[in-house]
Amino acid sequence: MADFYLLIGKWYRLNHRILPWRGTKNPYFIWLSEIIMQQTRIEQGTNYYLKFISTYPTIQDLANASEQDVLNNWQGLGYYSRARNLHFSAKYVVNELDGKFPCTYKEIIKLKGVGTYTAAAIASFAFNERCAVVDGNVYRFLSRLFDLPTPIDSTQGKKEFQLLADQLIEKADPGIHNQAMMEMGSLICAPNPNCEQCPVQVHCLSLKNGTIKERPVKSKKTKVRDRYFHYLIYSFEEKTIITKRTEKGIWQNMYQFPLIETESTETPKSILAEIQFSSSVQKHILSHQRIFAVFHHIHSEPTMSGSDYVTINREEIQDYPLPRIIDRYLEEEANQ
Ligand code: SF4
Repeated sequence: MADFYLLIGKWYRLNHRILPWRGTKNPYFIWLSEIIMQQTRIEQGTNYYLKFISTYPTIQDLANASEQDVLNNWQGLGYYSRARNLHFSAKYVVNELDGKFPCTYKEIIKLKGVGTYTAAAIASFAFNERCAVVDGNVYRFLSRLFDLPTPIDSTQGKKEFQLLADQLIEKADPGIHNQAMMEMGSLICAPNPNCEQCPVQVHCLSLKNGTIKERPVKSKKTKVRDRYFHYLIYSFEEKTIITKRTEKGIWQNMYQFPLIETESTETPKSILAEIQFSSSVQKHILSHQRIFAVFHHIHSEPTMSGSDYVTINREEIQDYPLPRIIDRYLEEEANQ
């Protein structure tokens, strides 16, 4: 495989994308970029990365911020548990590790919200530790390169691919090798691969065996659950009310209009009488859920009360961390 390393290394040097977190050895910046980029497009994630490193230039700055401040800066990225874990881990590093970011895979993986992939990325990019990164792009690239039929989402598959990547990792510069493997999977061995431009096509068993379309193999189909949300937007004296979501889940500690969840989009009779008009249904797709939300406008004071409800001036709503579905609705409403 000696020429494999040469080919892939040369291709990477000539073709990799210039991204603001590439080239840095600062583990805090690398950690931020890796957490932000999970489930996020590069263009969108880049803006958030730049915002985070300018708002919180050191891990101490992030640890000293309030959770609400961090969630506000995260707003629009979704999967808010990532922001909460970042904040929690920043406080842990500052308070328990004297502000020193852990420097080995074994220690990095102890941080909340950091799994095998992220720990390997930080350890190899920042500290040049020899641990292979296997993300979705690397799974696809390896499964085609070696024509592997093992499902990548099975326990056996995870072990097999990690072992293979560990055996394959280049000794001299594991950080660059990992980035080259990921970039290859992202730009060349993409879902629709560009085999003509592939620098390692002479090594590719799937190309030889005609199995590219069948790789990678996946065993499970994600079960998607449909949920129906009815948000109640009260308007009275330029005010409205919101509540904080306290239950565990992706939107924990975020704010929303009072919510009634039902089995369908049909408006519950209990609120039908109060409604002045309602907007169209908004659809929001998460990895395991499809949310259908109807926003009901009610031009009166709410009948409900209690410490869960916060009365605010309508324009203050943007000062609160909001789930993306509400944020998007407000954006559309403002553009009407
Ligand atoms: S030849 Fe095609 S399928 Fe094989 S590794 Fe290269 S891009 Fe992927």
